[in-house]
Amino acid sequence: MPECLFCDIAAERVPAARVLATDRVMAFRDIDPQAPSHVLVIPKEHHPDLAALTTADAGLLHEVIAAAHQAAVAEGISDGYRVVFNTGLQAGQTVPHVHAHVLGGRWMAWPPG
Ligand code: AMP
Ligand code: ZN
Repeated sequence: MPECLFCDIAAERVPAARVLATDRVMAFRDIDPQAPSHVLVIPKEHHPDLAALTTADAGLLHEVIAAAHQAAVAEGISDGYRVVFNTGLQAGQTVPHVHAHVLGGRWMAWPPG
């Protein structure tokens, strides 16, 4: 498999500020936070994007979303947070390993940019 940054983080070959982990998913702080709390949740297994993951393993997608909520609780933002899956270049996906952004700790605008 070609090099993948988030596979390297999942395997602890690249350091990350971990928020939580299970045997199948991991949450860690975004290196360039866009809100006071900005966590990324990934499956440890490589899937390129949301479309691929939902087709390959819907149960694992559920674990990612459940971990997103658990990360929001751990961060103390569970009264108001946003979960985003940028999917594809046009939506701004830059890392081709599916990940949920969990953002909170400030008021959010809508529509997003
Ligand atoms: P996206 O643009 O939706 O694909 O999101 C990728 C996210 O990964 C961006 O918000 C980056 O700031 C974040 N990111 C890139 N490299 C790292 C890293 N080494 N550790 C943590 N977050 C990272
Ligand atoms: Zn990967």
